[in-house]
Amino acid sequence: MKVQKFGGSSLADGDRIKNTVKIIQSENERVFVVLSAMKGITNLLLEASSSAENGDKNYINNLQAIRDQHYNAIEVLFEGKDKQPVIESVNTLIGELKDILHGVELVQECSLRTGDLIMSFGERLNCTVTAAYFNSLGQKSEMADARDMIVTDDHYGSSNVFLDRSYSRIRERLSDPETLYIITGFIASSEKGITTTLGRNGSDYTASLIGAAMNADIVEIWTDVNGVLTADPRIVDNAHTIPRLTIEEAMELSYFGAEVIHPYTLMPTVEKNIPVVIKNTLNPSNKGTIIGTGPVIRERAITGIASIDSVSFINVEGGGMLGIPGIASSIFSALAEAGVNIIMITQASSEHSICIVIRSSEVEKAVSYLEKKLEYEIKTKKINRIDVKNNLEIIAVIGENMKGMTGISGKLFSSLGNSGVNILAIAQGSSERNISLVIENRDKETALNTIHKTFIA
Ligand code: ADP
Ligand code: ASP
Ligand code: MG
Repeated sequence: MKVQKFGGSSLADGDRIKNTVKIIQSENERVFVVLSAMKGITNLLLEASSSAENGDKNYINNLQAIRDQHYNAIEVLFEGKDKQPVIESVNTLIGELKDILHGVELVQECSLRTGDLIMSFGERLNCTVTAAYFNSLGQKSEMADARDMIVTDDHYGSSNVFLDRSYSRIRERLSDPETLYIITGFIASSEKGITTTLGRNGSDYTASLIGAAMNADIVEIWTDVNGVLTADPRIVDNAHTIPRLTIEEAMELSYFGAEVIHPYTLMPTVEKNIPVVIKNTLNPSNKGTIIGTGPVIRERAITGIASIDSVSFINVEGGGMLGIPGIASSIFSALAEAGVNIIMITQASSEHSICIVIRSSEVEKAVSYLEKKLEYEIKTKKINRIDVKNNLEIIAVIGENMKGMTGISGKLFSSLGNSGVNILAIAQGSSERNISLVIENRDKETALNTIHKTFIA
């Protein structure tokens, strides 16, 4: 039995949904289907909530665009058939969404909690339409709302899943062997039954949770490229498929921005030894990428390159930091209290400065917590300044083969130097599987292409 997850890119319109349904129907084994929202819908929902929060009536246009995209798909999918029941189901959901957005407009406030509820409509609408389409083809199907199965904490916007409780609920809910379940990706609910989400791109994670709960033989993530590629294909033209990835490599790549899989996807499947395969709905015969346990033989030092946009670094600097063990700990606890995620850390051995790389959207909060926490050190001049540099990019070079190989960093830095890319900070993971560099945003394309050409292409 397998889990097949299809992302928004495979569900852009009625024709794409038809194509996806053909892939599902061509399976001989039992399949559990996990779907994202239709392409672009989650972004429209986000935009709608921020317009409504600002008292801007424009959210009505987004609502219409969302409704029309589903209506258009229904036109294609139910051609010559009775569309009324599915139109009614869509209208009910759109009506509910409109009421919520109107509420947000009235109070001019949209908490993360309300945001999660608003975003949940994307997956719910899509699964409602697709399950109805299967039924219209004579296949017994049911939309299965993940909020009845996946239990999380109430960290709205990106909640943490309680695995065991979720697994037993999943097994309970998906118990009829005759029914094809169309499961909503991305969404879940808290212990109190409030709607939560697993973070952007979270449907991949939903698929692996379902796979682990049902003891599936394989989890397939279907998208619009031939698996995990050596680099982001939008930036590096000759990026190509990596046929096999170790779990660690795949985790590093996704953590450092290869959005083709959500970073948490592999956690549930690793535990149960379930392989994850990334495939292309536009090219189903391509083998894609297999991520699984076991060693992989490689010719190249570097397996893939990933990057994270819009990061900033904060440099905490001062002569008085020398040998004072407490400062690093104060910095980390200040950021933890602020709820800011540290992506990368470097400290020069002179101990005069610690450099932390975080998302630019969190800089303001981070600095204000740091200034509060380090008030005494700043007053006593142990710390001279806290500098911020914006518009940066992290490039992560990843590969199991880098372990123990000499000369890679040298070649990496000299190739970038020759291309005129200035490196602002460097970190190497102790696993030796990852070298991360911070560069200016504007050098991103040159850097990715240079590294790809030097080590991969
Ligand atoms: P889906 O809608 O199927 O979830 P996503 O847009 O989330 O798809 O992820 C697929 C996209 O990720 C690809 O279209 C590609 O542009 C982008 N991407 C970035 N880095 C990589 C990479 N290393 N390998 C493959 N795709 C990548
Ligand atoms: N629809 C959600 C998003 O756009 C989840 C997903 O696509 O995986 O982030
Ligand atoms: Mg995705």
